[in-house]
Amino acid sequence: MAIDKNIKLPQKFLEQYRKNIGSRISASIALFTTAGVLCAAIDFSETRYPVMGVVMIMVVGFVLSCLVAGLHRILFRKSWSGTITEIDADYHIRTKNKGFTKKLIVVLTIDCGEKTPRKFELLHEDMDGENKYFTEAPYKVGDTVVFLRGMKYPMRYNIDTEDTLTLFVCPYCGDINKAERDTCYKCGKFLVK
Ligand SMILES: [Zn+2]
Repeated sequence: MAIDKNIKLPQKFLEQYRKNIGSRISASIALFTTAGVLCAAIDFSETRYPVMGVVMIMVVGFVLSCLVAGLHRILFRKSWSGTITEIDADYHIRTKNKGFTKKLIVVLTIDCGEKTPRKFELLHEDMDGENKYFTEAPYKVGDTVVFLRGMKYPMRYNIDTEDTLTLFVCPYCGDINKAERDTCYKCGKFLVK
């Protein structure tokens, strides 16, 4: 399902989103061009499998584009919106070296108007327990969530509901922010509230 027509994302947010996608596509094009230049520079005609050499370099270019620019999130994912029907949050604390790591695994079940609800898992690691706002899940049942192509996580978007949650997940980097913040404390991008 596509994004609900009633959902209007703030202009400032959309501008930044488009810029972000644009720069990631540019980064991918740069990586592909580099791979192409490499293919042209290396003389594969003397090798036993000349086509394989070119294909291998282009595949490496693609994998790098996915890793560096998140190209797979832009190409293979669609934008959608829906309502959270179930949340399964699991907190783990494990010791690691001298400090400790808190791990929050949240599985969201989202009704997107499709036959089967969508499941979305997000994982948040908190090294040394420095993130103090870590005592509640950053989503609640009934939340409207929007997922945009290229993002890592769905973001909360509550049109009419009285919102009492104090935490927001940054859709770009996945870090958890306090509600009073307009931009993500980690990556600096606008948060939709
Ligand atoms: Zn962020």
